[in-house]
Amino acid sequence: MFLHHCPPALREAGRQAGQLYAHVVQWIGRKIPDLEIRVRFPARAHNDYCMLTLDTDTLKINRIGEKTAKRLKLLGIETAQDLLFYFPFRYEDFTQAVKIADLKGGQTANIVGQIELIQNKRSHRRRMYVTEALVSDESESVKVIWFNQPFIAKNLKVGDRVSLAGKAEEDLGGLVLKSPTYEKITRGTPIHTHGFVPDYHLTANITNKQIRFLIKSVIALAKGIKDWVPDETRRQLKLLPLAEAIAKIHFPRNKKDANEAKRRLAFNELFLIQLQSQLIKDDIKSSRSQPVSFKEEETKKFVDSLPFKLTDAQRKAAWEILKDIEKDKPMSRLLEGDVGSGKTVVALVAMLNAALNGGQSALMVPTEILAQQHFDSISGLLRDWNIKVGLVTRSQKKVYGMQNAVLKDNKKVKKLNTEYVIQNSDIIIGTHSLIQEDMKFRNLNLVIIDEQHRFGVEQRAKLATLTGENLSPHLLSMTATPIPRSLALALYGDLDLSVINEMPANRKKIITRVVPEEKRDKAYEFIRKEIKNGRQVFVICPLIDISDKLGVKSVKQEFEKLDKYIFPDLATGMLHGKLKPAEKEKIMREFLENKIKILVSTSVVEVGVDVPNASVMMIEGADRFGLASLHQFRGRVGRSEHQSYCFLFAESDAPDTLRRLDAMTSYSDGLSLAKMDLKFRGPGEVYGTMQKGFPELQMASLFDYELMKAAKEQAEKILKIDKNLSSHPELKEKVGEWEKKTHLE
Ligand code: ADP
Ligand code: MG
Repeated sequence: MFLHHCPPALREAGRQAGQLYAHVVQWIGRKIPDLEIRVRFPARAHNDYCMLTLDTDTLKINRIGEKTAKRLKLLGIETAQDLLFYFPFRYEDFTQAVKIADLKGGQTANIVGQIELIQNKRSHRRRMYVTEALVSDESESVKVIWFNQPFIAKNLKVGDRVSLAGKAEEDLGGLVLKSPTYEKITRGTPIHTHGFVPDYHLTANITNKQIRFLIKSVIALAKGIKDWVPDETRRQLKLLPLAEAIAKIHFPRNKKDANEAKRRLAFNELFLIQLQSQLIKDDIKSSRSQPVSFKEEETKKFVDSLPFKLTDAQRKAAWEILKDIEKDKPMSRLLEGDVGSGKTVVALVAMLNAALNGGQSALMVPTEILAQQHFDSISGLLRDWNIKVGLVTRSQKKVYGMQNAVLKDNKKVKKLNTEYVIQNSDIIIGTHSLIQEDMKFRNLNLVIIDEQHRFGVEQRAKLATLTGENLSPHLLSMTATPIPRSLALALYGDLDLSVINEMPANRKKIITRVVPEEKRDKAYEFIRKEIKNGRQVFVICPLIDISDKLGVKSVKQEFEKLDKYIFPDLATGMLHGKLKPAEKEKIMREFLENKIKILVSTSVVEVGVDVPNASVMMIEGADRFGLASLHQFRGRVGRSEHQSYCFLFAESDAPDTLRRLDAMTSYSDGLSLAKMDLKFRGPGEVYGTMQKGFPELQMASLFDYELMKAAKEQAEKILKIDKNLSSHPELKEKVGEWEKKTHLE
């Protein structure tokens, strides 16, 4: 039965088909189990009817149903334009279309041929379906197999012409193409199996095939994207027009196409950073700040009271900072030091001086756990100083040594609010909540941003408005990401740099091992021994997929296993993003107090958390993390004199994976690992994982000096003539848009 004259939208057609079915049922008087109603209309017609534009909702794009639209939304894709700006992270090189006769074992290639035979078999021994096919071209034929995808035998029929891409392997019976990507050749060029084929970061049940198909179906719209980089700039740097770059980043013909597209898109990011930071720089140049004079005697007394001796590098960094904040110009400094190098105490020396001058400091950190921890340790160290330390996070507002609630009018109990904490503390530790409420500080003159990697260009702008007067606070950003000095200068020209390049003396090198599955029990035995000796253990689990954004699934699974079966006699705790802040705090506190011996957690402990008594870091699914993250995790142990260990478990034992993880055993510093991270990007890979801390850099590499320099010069040139971009409206709009996107949360 066919429905002619189908209305434009597929859903409408579906609805009508449904009605028709209901009519038929009514007419016959009963349900008909096998009745099939098919809706047919020309494949391309749908999009034509819909008049796709860049703003078209994904739901209106051919073949995207509600379910898929929801999944796309998880990836941040809601419109056709979003699809176009969802860039691949690498390519598979199937440019070599080979004749089957020339195919060799171990080769990854694309072949085109005809299906001679295709059938499903059930392998009882291995409990799976195997689809076997024979494919031939004019030169030869080859066996092809797929596992557990029986539907392939329905999709591909004898006589179909197919393009296949994958790895050929030498098997007992000769050459076999195992689980290749396939596509039927109808018309047009194949997009999944031939040429430079893009791979996207995907989860949530969307396949690369789907996303390629979807992008292909809207790629023509790229032509309509306006290029906001001035012609002159583009000409000088020989950059592709934006529309062309978008088309080529998704469907490059070859490596050169991909590289040119990437260069253009990387320039976009660097250029915007430059424009924005230069615009703000001008702002700051003209601003003043309150000098913090160096209280030498007190500082010495504080340093002597510490339970350890500061390293020379810590002293030098502290000195540079103290010298800087003595000026009436706002400081703008980056403090860089590998995980565990002791940045916090250096910041504290500066905050102490600010407080002794009667000023306030704010320490901003990325997570509640970290805020709580800094609050505990800093208020401990300042116990004897009559300096008030406050905490402001989404769930907590408190001042050290003060009741959580104040008595009002002798009867009403009122919980402390942000305003109260801000007014009554000298040092305020908090998450972004701290600046979200637009609270006025009493006398804020030092702002420190921990582990944020954002250099606070725009935070500073925002914070400057909170000081209450026409003054800007001094700004210190702290990061463990190893940014070479030359790069920091190229990227953020106005930033001064202090580096802690030395670890505290009492540290022992962390012993790192990649543990094969068969030795897992041994690792557990080892953990038991460490705990018996008084130590504690972290177990990190990777996110299973995007739908498990908060890591609940993975952590629960692992926790149950360890708690019930492996270590039923030991106190085990669990930490993930879904827990209430109070619960998180409780768990963290119990771990700190050594009541919990084993803490199973998601990557929430990645940044900053400090539990010196922990000596084992066990990482599950280590292959799912970048080296930079692994290094951060590892930095959670080895924070005291105890010998510490890091055990990596991988889900895959592919040689590439193992080689990458082996880098963790050979290198113990962040910089070497960052370089390795770059090296391990496959040949066609667009970006590495190390840049995780730089959300605004997706296509640009941290090590791309040339392009960075060019972006800086171009931005300077434009701003020199057009001070606030008033004659470059498109550019101005873009900077604004971008600022919003990358602004604090
Ligand atoms: P990070 O630089 O990663 O932020 P922290 O500031 O958290 O490092 O310091 C890590 C640990 O080292 C903390 O427990 C801190 O008290 C300790 N620490 C800091 N400086 C020294 C030092 N000079 N000697 C010994 N331990 C130190
Ligand atoms: Mg830290």
